[in-house]
Amino acid sequence: MTPLSVDIDDVREARSLIRNEIRHTPLTPAGALSADTGLEVFLKLETLQETGSFKVRGATNRMLRLSPAERRRGVVTVSTGNHGRAVAHAAARLGIPAVVCMSTLVPGNKIQAIEALGAEIRIAGDNQDEAGHEAARLVEEQAMTLVPPFDDPHVIAGQGTIGLEIHEDLPEPDAIIVPLSGGGLIGGVAAATKALAPRARVIGVTMDRGAAMFESLKAGHPVEVEELPTLADSLGGGIGPDNRHTFRLVRELVDDVVLVSEAEIAAAMGYIFRTAGLVTEGAAAVGVAALMTGRISDLAGAVVVVLSGRNVDPDRFIEIVTRAGEVPVPSPRRDSG
Ligand SMILES: *Cc1c(COP(=O)(O)O)cnc(C)c1O
Repeated sequence: MTPLSVDIDDVREARSLIRNEIRHTPLTPAGALSADTGLEVFLKLETLQETGSFKVRGATNRMLRLSPAERRRGVVTVSTGNHGRAVAHAAARLGIPAVVCMSTLVPGNKIQAIEALGAEIRIAGDNQDEAGHEAARLVEEQAMTLVPPFDDPHVIAGQGTIGLEIHEDLPEPDAIIVPLSGGGLIGGVAAATKALAPRARVIGVTMDRGAAMFESLKAGHPVEVEELPTLADSLGGGIGPDNRHTFRLVRELVDDVVLVSEAEIAAAMGYIFRTAGLVTEGAAAVGVAALMTGRISDLAGAVVVVLSGRNVDPDRFIEIVTRAGEVPVPSPRRDSG
């Protein structure tokens, strides 16, 4: 059996490379959530990371591996927002030209944030796959380097540095709960955690509206799912029919994957705000949603929940957390633009 694409040594190497570019984010006890669940819950605050999400870890690790010639030709990426922002940020710091391709579903606040970082934006298509065709064209015709959002060993290893930091701050967690989309985040965290604290369970959480990795695991191979508007917009998109790295990492290292609904995500965003004073985007709140609903079986002891990002439109956030009881299912029109 061939080894997995990323192991603990790759994650350690990533750590030493990106150390000066990223923050070691706090791991903070969650009092109210611990009391409400009977667990000892800790929150890993990637909401405080550079660019407002963990994605800068993987993007920075990938870009620091480019040759001088590759740097001159520039990078291109496809993104639902946070990865594009991370690539733009890293590119600006390293003096590399960057083009970010994205679909019309991406919220306006995310587009503006990326433009402000100096990257060129290209809107192409109504879903991430169509935006990907435009990126492939730039790679083909202008020899730019694609920085993938998840299915790349250097990207995965960069995200895995979260696992190293958790281990330094809490050596023996019983479980780590991680938002899951393409699987770069959980793949890297699991690669680190299973080497350093093998008894810790690693559990992925995603929304029930368009759960690509969940369906792929069920099918035993990557499958496509319809991309639907969701409060967890950063978890949208497929895992790619030609997935090379994250599908296998998730299948072999992740203990369980659970789903949460839109109403549960909204409730979790409000709960995190009211009890911990933290703004989270929908994608970042899914772990707390899974805990609050008791969706994860047999949890006990010390549980780490990764809050993966905070990039949500402020007015939208206020609307979500003040509409208690209602189900604020997003419409594509409201979220685009
Ligand atoms: C990208 C992202 C995720 C999911 O990461 P994957 O590596 O695609 O699984 C979770 N939360 C936020 C905020 C993200 O931006």
